[in-house]
Formats: sequence, structure tokens, C-alpha cells
Amino acid sequence: MNDRAIGLATADLIAAVVRPEIQALSAYVVAKAEGMVKLDAMENPYSLPAAVGARLGEALAHVPVNRYPDGDAGGARVALERALGIAPGQGILLGNGSDELIQIITSALARPGATMLAPEPSFVMYRMNAIYAGMRLVGVPLAADFGLDRAAMLDAIDRERPALVFLAYPNNPTGNLFAARDIEAVLGATRGLVVVDEAYYAFADASFLPRLGEFSNLLVLRTLSKVGMAGIRFGYAVAAPAWIAELNKLRQPYNVNALTQAAVVALLADTSWIAEQAAATCAERLRLEAALARLPDTTVFPTRTNFVVIRVADANGVFEGLKARRILVKNLHGWHSLLANCLRITVGTPTENDLLLAACAELCR
Ligand code: PMP
Repeated sequence: MNDRAIGLATADLIAAVVRPEIQALSAYVVAKAEGMVKLDAMENPYSLPAAVGARLGEALAHVPVNRYPDGDAGGARVALERALGIAPGQGILLGNGSDELIQIITSALARPGATMLAPEPSFVMYRMNAIYAGMRLVGVPLAADFGLDRAAMLDAIDRERPALVFLAYPNNPTGNLFAARDIEAVLGATRGLVVVDEAYYAFADASFLPRLGEFSNLLVLRTLSKVGMAGIRFGYAVAAPAWIAELNKLRQPYNVNALTQAAVVALLADTSWIAEQAAATCAERLRLEAALARLPDTTVFPTRTNFVVIRVADANGVFEGLKARRILVKNLHGWHSLLANCLRITVGTPTENDLLLAACAELCR
């Protein structure tokens, strides 16, 4: 057989055996960003303070990489509990980023015929994981101001009886914080597990973590990715121990690698640097919001995250113009009707934000 014939034979095999919904998917593409001002992925733009970097280097040098990691990630767990002040009696599940935890939670609840409910637009990985797990996703459109449509959510819960509800608090890609009373209404209306995804907690000044004891169906999901540690891939879920015990059965034995475990201990030994960098981002966010609001034909949506969503006259044009100036943001146009002509801009360093603002002043006039 020649290469073409082998290729055709492989395509036939794939068509016959790979699940059709997987064949129809596209793999998650990470935009190339070399040499660009990178304002597309909600990373913290600051590097580690020298003392923290030195502590990290020292810790990593001593990791016994010939051995499998601690299966419980005990050290990282203690460091996290101490840093967060998690109330005794709560269960914690650690993951390779919160993406892995979304996958674990979804697979655990994907009984045949089970439904996942999430507002739309929201974090794309909820939908992706519903597809991976063969779970039906019901999306409930947000209101035009990106708020949760409480009546529509409660109707959908009544009609669909979801096993799982995802609420990003604050929401990505819209940046706003849903009203706490709407989340409480959802928690009270469903017997399903409600995941309150607090990836952006450090910039939100609001959390359901202290309220875990009030709701038996609440799980709070968080990540270190937005607070300066995206590279180590570390997320955590906090819920009643009985929930965590079920989810833990789906976790791969060594899902958090030894280097990450040691890094968490070293990086969280003192958390003042995290608070300082998050505060710098919040201050820059205010400056960015005010400056963007002064541009003609530009709407700035309220944000409680480390990114700002704007609506411009021509998002594709502004996106390409920024790219030509070596600035990468996220073009949300085409994702959902509510996001028409919207761009999502991660808050960068003061210098990066100045570059962004100068470019926007040229492009949005
Ligand atoms: N949840 C939300 C709402 C997010 O925006 C993101 C990252 N974009 C994640 C979860 C995943 O974060 P990670 O896997 O890096 O922990």
C-alpha cells in the first residue's frame, strides 16, 4: 500500500471507531505568542519576587524525581490549607489545574442521560467536558448585561433536573460577578452538584468558600493559575468530604507531579507576594477601564477579574490591528451572540497596558 492508501485506510478506521462527537471536535488551540505582548490568557504578568524564586529553586533542586510523587500531595495540601485558612472538616481535591478537576467532576456525574447546566456564554471547558463525558449540556443564555437570568435558570433546573451546574464566579469570558442571591437561588433549587468556579477569586472580593457549610450541594473550585502560578498547573476543589471522597475515585494516582507539589509548598510559604501582585493588577484594571471607556464607540463591561471586556465597532479589525502591533488579546466576536464585537483584554503590567492603550487609541477612532 502506498502512503495515500494507508492514509485512507486510517481515515476509514477512525470514522468507524472514534466517537462521532469527538470526530466533530477541534482540539483546544493555544495561540502562538512568541515576541508578543501577551494579554490573551488571564495570566499574572509579573514574575516571582527574587526571594520567592530563590526559595522555589532551592525546593526544586531537592525533589527526588526518581520516585513517584506523594500520592496524597500531603505537603502541598497542608501549604494550601494554611494559606487559604480552609475550615477544618472540609474536603479538598487537588488537580493538574482546575481543568482536570472539571473533567473529574463531569465524569463522576455523567450517568447515562444526565444533564449539565451552565449559563452561556461561560467557560468553554464546561461544554468540552460535557462532550468528553457524553453528558447532555443545557446552556441558559445570560441577560444582555451578562447577569444571570435567574428566572430562566430556575425554569431550566425545573425542566431539566441537572445533575451538575457550573457557575463561574466571576464569569469568564464576560468578567462580571453574578449576584450572590441568584447563586443561592440556584443552590436551593437543584439537587444536583453546583460548582462555583472561583478561578478569579483574587480579583473579585467575593467568595462562596466561607459558605460551604450552608449548602450540601456546593463545591468551590479554584486555581493558582491566575495568581502568578499558571505554569505549575495546580487547581483545587473544596466541598464536603463525602463529595470529595467520590470524586477522588476518578483521580489518577499521581495527578499532581512531584515538582508541582514542591513548588506549591515553596510558593505558598508566604502569600504576601500573591496579594501584592493581585492588588497591582486590580489597580491597573481600574486605570485600563477608565482609559478604555474614553475611546470613541467603545463600551467597557463591569469586571471583577484580571481582564476587561470591551465592545468596539469592529472587533475583528481591532484584534488584527493589535496583532499587527504585536499585542495579543482574545477576540470574542463569533463565540456567542451576546459577545458580538467584544474583545477580552487581560490586565498586563503598566508598560504593557500603556502599549495596549496607545494601540487602541489608534485603532478605535
Ligand atoms: N475556570 C475558569 C472560569 C477559567 O477561566 C479557567 C482558565 N481559563 C479555568 C477554570 C482553568 O484554569 P486552570 O486549568 O489553569 O486551573
